[in-house]
Amino acid sequence: MDRFDVAVVGAGPAGSSSAVSLARRGYSVILLERALFPREKLCGDFLNPANWELFEHLGVADKLLSLEHEKVTAFRISTFSGADATISFPSRNGKTIAGFGLRRSALDDLLLRQAEKEGVVVKQGRKVRALIREAAGWCVMVGGEPESEKVSSTFLIGADGRNSWVAHRLGLARTSESPGHYVAFQLHLKGVRGLQGDVQIHVFPGGYAGLVGLGGGTANLCFTVERREIKQGISLEALFENRLYKNSFLRQSLAGSEIASKVRAASPLYFPPRRCNGEGYLLVGDAARVTEPVTGEGVYFALKSGILAAATIDLAFKRGDRSSEQLASYSRLCQEAFSLRQRVNRIIRALVYRPFLLAPVIRLSARTSLPLRPLVDQVCGAVRFPR
Ligand SMILES: Cc1cc2nc3c(=O)[nH]c(=O)nc-3n(C[C@H](O)[C@H](O)[C@H](O)COP(=O)(O)OP(=O)(O)OC[C@H]3O[C@@H](n4cnc5c(N)ncnc54)[C@H](O)[C@@H]3O)c2cc1C
Repeated sequence: MDRFDVAVVGAGPAGSSSAVSLARRGYSVILLERALFPREKLCGDFLNPANWELFEHLGVADKLLSLEHEKVTAFRISTFSGADATISFPSRNGKTIAGFGLRRSALDDLLLRQAEKEGVVVKQGRKVRALIREAAGWCVMVGGEPESEKVSSTFLIGADGRNSWVAHRLGLARTSESPGHYVAFQLHLKGVRGLQGDVQIHVFPGGYAGLVGLGGGTANLCFTVERREIKQGISLEALFENRLYKNSFLRQSLAGSEIASKVRAASPLYFPPRRCNGEGYLLVGDAARVTEPVTGEGVYFALKSGILAAATIDLAFKRGDRSSEQLASYSRLCQEAFSLRQRVNRIIRALVYRPFLLAPVIRLSARTSLPLRPLVDQVCGAVRFPR
């Protein structure tokens, strides 16, 4: 059985960023991933500008620019009552900061390769199936019969996404967690019109849609609809006609476009933070919490929490202390780093599901710099709220 300082379960942005950050500090790390990369992933494919300093920190910023992408420098929002505003991203040193439209399959593959380059042992196509606590840490069972494998580690990081098997196995997922009232769908389209280096949110009756260009004439469309519509067995075409196309901006953008991928679905769209530390383990990224996708910050939370988890484990090693109390500093670091963003996310979530409140906000924002400008500045991470 191989022994490592840290075993990381799941090689999305959270798993790869924690693995890279730990390997750089000199720890032996194994990254266990059930899929074979590059793999597709349900996501809006929008990389918020706040990610940039994390990409630089992880050493992938230049390589990321060589991947097919679209530069995004503005946010556009509309409602089905005709309110429409475009807010450019803030400037830093006289330059507008940029986000990216980029396929998650490409981003996650880049991060995984970076982990390998930094000395992480990466095992793909290996699903973690069992966890056993031992006196010195963990025994992790990977794969199934006849090819099962055992890995032992001092620390464990659960980075296995929204339906985290690790969180369930450790008793951290509440059985009462609601499936939520909304379901999200995601697909890639060719021939979408009206995307001009912006990320767009269009609200329609009973949900909202996000659009961003990915380069090469492809765009990502994500939309949320009420669960009860799906239960009634409605088709994709009918959802477009009865819901999305009630927003005239969306109808114009999507008219004549063609579906260029599988249609993926996910729910719930939000669940509150879980306890994400205990003796010898931490949860990172979506395994720790899922935020409403409307602000396009999931990858940021995943990368940043991975980096914070690595700093916490480093300190625990140095102090020779694997206890839950020692690792509780991770939750405090996350709280400090994310609480303001989570508050803004809650405000925007409240608005997109209440178009009667959102429409006047958009109309005002189209004429003045308030109230959407400070929210966009905060989400993009560059500028503080004005006093
Ligand atoms: C509709 C929608 C749109 C979104 N749009 C955006 C957006 O535009 N921008 C943005 O930043 N965020 C967006 N998000 C959020 C973002 O997708 C997630 O926050 C992000 O993927 C979380 O990264 P992660 O590394 O925590 O988990 P994941 O990316 O889910 O990675 C988890 C990995 O763990 C692996 N795994 C799972 N179980 C096991 C196991 N037992 N053994 C081994 N491996 C396992 C999986 O295969 C996967 O590769 C969106 C989310 C939704 C639902």
